[in-house]
Amino acid sequence: MTLMLIYDLSLPTLETLLQEWDEPAYRAKQIWQGLYHHLYSSPEQFTNLPKSLREKMTQNLAFSAFKVKTYLDSSDGFTRKTLFELPDGNLIEAVLMRYGDPADDPQMATSATNRRGAKNRRTLCISTQAGCAMGCVFCATGQLGYKRNLSSGEIVAQVMYYAQMLKQQDEVVSNIVFMGMGEPFHNYDNTMGAIDRLNDADGYKFGARRLTISTVGLAPQIRRFADEGRQVNLAISLHAADDDERLAIMPVNKRYKIDDVIAACKYYIEKTHRRVTFEWALISGVNDSPEVAKKLATRLKGLLCHVNAIPLNPTQGYSGEATDRQRAAQFKETLEAAGIPCTIRMRRGIDIAAGCGQLAGANS
Ligand code: SAH
Ligand code: SF4
Repeated sequence: MTLMLIYDLSLPTLETLLQEWDEPAYRAKQIWQGLYHHLYSSPEQFTNLPKSLREKMTQNLAFSAFKVKTYLDSSDGFTRKTLFELPDGNLIEAVLMRYGDPADDPQMATSATNRRGAKNRRTLCISTQAGCAMGCVFCATGQLGYKRNLSSGEIVAQVMYYAQMLKQQDEVVSNIVFMGMGEPFHNYDNTMGAIDRLNDADGYKFGARRLTISTVGLAPQIRRFADEGRQVNLAISLHAADDDERLAIMPVNKRYKIDDVIAACKYYIEKTHRRVTFEWALISGVNDSPEVAKKLATRLKGLLCHVNAIPLNPTQGYSGEATDRQRAAQFKETLEAAGIPCTIRMRRGIDIAAGCGQLAGANS
């Protein structure tokens, strides 16, 4: 019998389960507190519960979603990539990035000290699927293909894994980005289930504003997300300002054209009054010219947005090369001169293939 993963249970489901076990309802909140506040990782740690209940928990519930297969630290020590093996053998990865030095992190200037009181940012990059069906040619996960959706609990468990690890060093997670393996809006319900559980006031209490979802641009889901009104940040992977050029690197553009994506973003901004981020992997000779920057600026004019550009990270299945520093700066300047704010993001964890688009669930 496979046990139910405890992180898959919502609080009401847990309450129903405890009722079935003839336990008082308040035990559900105690378990919730243990899991998400004290970050317990096994039934024995719940010393405030009767032994008989702890035994029931051991017999019926799984506390771990995966095995740690390996982990790698970048040479600068700031980035850790962990490879998890799911019970069915699928592999997923999640990355911890430590940011401390403001000079190294342009976003530090605006994020300042985070709400949890930590001086430095600890950002987690989490997976929502094993593999990905979207097939972006420059992305290692896309090159791998689709394996399966992760359950909400498997998504939450990645956060808990790192939260437990950081706690031992007296540190906390400060930001979570859904930018690991998979397309979050292709696994919409489970991703939102995970977000709501992380956000729960009785649970992990992680502020929605410190969460970011990145999508390849599934227009209907962007609208649905806008309608649901969560305060989560939204990032859109655009990478091209022309439909043909986008289609050449992102098959999804066959289904949703740039105009469809931008219209959905407009809807999102009108509904939420929140700023959208457009992500742009700078690929030498492909999408990094001043002409492209101007075209992009024209398309984005009037939108409450900014562009996050990052020089392409290398992957095995794509021969494109990263734009150099100087040309990246020129791209930024051209965009900004046309009124679109742009940040060039630092490349992170490249030596351990933990950068954007490099996660492939391999032992690399
Ligand atoms: N599926 C989602 C989220 C995961 S990918 C999405 O596509 O948005 C996270 C980000 O990494 C996306 O912006 C994606 O376009 C970008 N990315 C993928 N491959 C990359 C690469 N080789 N170099 C730089 N960024 C890459
Ligand atoms: Fe999937 Fe995002 Fe990679 Fe595209 S960039 S293949 S959507 S994970």
